[in-house]
Amino acid sequence: MRILITGGAGFIGSHLTDRLITEGHVVVAMDNLVTGDLDNIAHHRSNPRFEYIHHDVSNHIHVAGPLDWVLHFASPASPIDYLQLPIQTLKVGALGTHNALGLAKAKGAKFLLASTSEVYGDPLVHPQPEDYWGNVNPIGPRGVYDEAKRYAEAITMAYHRVHQVDVRVVRIFNTYGPRNRINDGRVVPTFINQALRGEPLTVFGKGNQTRSFQYVADLVNGVRQLMGANYNRPINIGNPREMTILEFAKLILHLTESPSQIEYKPLPEDDPKTRQPDISRAKSILNWEPEVPVEEGLRQTIDWYQIRAASHSSDLR
Ligand code: UDP
Repeated sequence: MRILITGGAGFIGSHLTDRLITEGHVVVAMDNLVTGDLDNIAHHRSNPRFEYIHHDVSNHIHVAGPLDWVLHFASPASPIDYLQLPIQTLKVGALGTHNALGLAKAKGAKFLLASTSEVYGDPLVHPQPEDYWGNVNPIGPRGVYDEAKRYAEAITMAYHRVHQVDVRVVRIFNTYGPRNRINDGRVVPTFINQALRGEPLTVFGKGNQTRSFQYVADLVNGVRQLMGANYNRPINIGNPREMTILEFAKLILHLTESPSQIEYKPLPEDDPKTRQPDISRAKSILNWEPEVPVEEGLRQTIDWYQIRAASHSSDLR
C-alpha cells in the first residue's frame, strides 16, 4: 500500500511510519515541523519506500500518484503546545482535516482520523465509553484542541455519509514513549526529565486528578488493527490502568531512583479531573488490548531519554 501520514515526523506519526515501512508499505510523511522533528524519521531518508513532504496541511494538499490510505495525525497535541498555537491547532483540526478528507476522496483512499480522549473534555461519565458525548468548555483555553478534534470527527463522519469515504476514527488516550519531545510539556516527558536532572517534579494541583497512560507500541498496534477492521465509528485506544498524577510522580521517582522532591504548582484551567478509557469496543471489534505494563513502557522511555541526553548534552543542562 501507499500511505500518506500527516504529522509523519511527529511522535506518533513517526512510530506509525516505522511500523508501516517494516511491513513493506510505501509511506509519504507530511509535516510542517511545528511540533514534529526530522530526527524522528531521519533513519528512513534513504529508503526508496519513504518520501517526506514539508507542508502545512491546513493549506490545500497535493500528493502525486495513488494513495491507499490517508492517516491524519497532524496536530499540536500537548496542552502547552496548543495553548501557544491556538489558531494553528484550530486550523489543522478543521481545515487540515477537511483537506485530508478531500485528498482521500479524490484518491479513492481510506481515511483514518487521529482523534482524542479530549473530545470527552472533563468527563462526567467514568470510565469513558465511545457513546459518551463529553463535557467540553468550548471557549476555555483547551477548547481550541477539543473543539477542533470534535469538528474533525464531525466532518469525517459527514464525508463518510455524503461521499462514502471509508473512514476510521481512533480516540487516542494519553500516550507516551520514545520521541515524545522533552519540552513537550506533557506529564510523562516532564516528570522523567525532571527526575533525571534531579529537579523537583511539578505536580499540578493536589495531584489527585487521574490519567491512564498507554505505551506508544500498544497504540500503533491498535491503529493497525483498526485499519484492517471494517468499522467506521469512533473507537477508544488507551490503557485502562488509571492512577493519580501524584501516584504517577512517585512511580517515576521510583523507576529513575531519583532524589528529586515533589513541588506543587497551580492546576491549569479546565484540566480534566479524571480520564480512563472504556476499551470494550476495541476488545470486541478489534480484538485489541494493551500489552505493555506501564512500568515496562516507562523503563524503555526512561532509557531512551537517558541515551538521548548522552548524545544531546544540552538536554540535561
Ligand atoms: N501535569 C502535572 N505536571 C506537569 C505536567 C502535567 O501535574 O508538569 C498534570 C496535568 O495537570 C494533567 C496531567 O498531568 O492533570 C496530564 O497532563 P498532560 O499535559 O500530560 O496531558 P493531558 O492529559 O492533560 O492532556
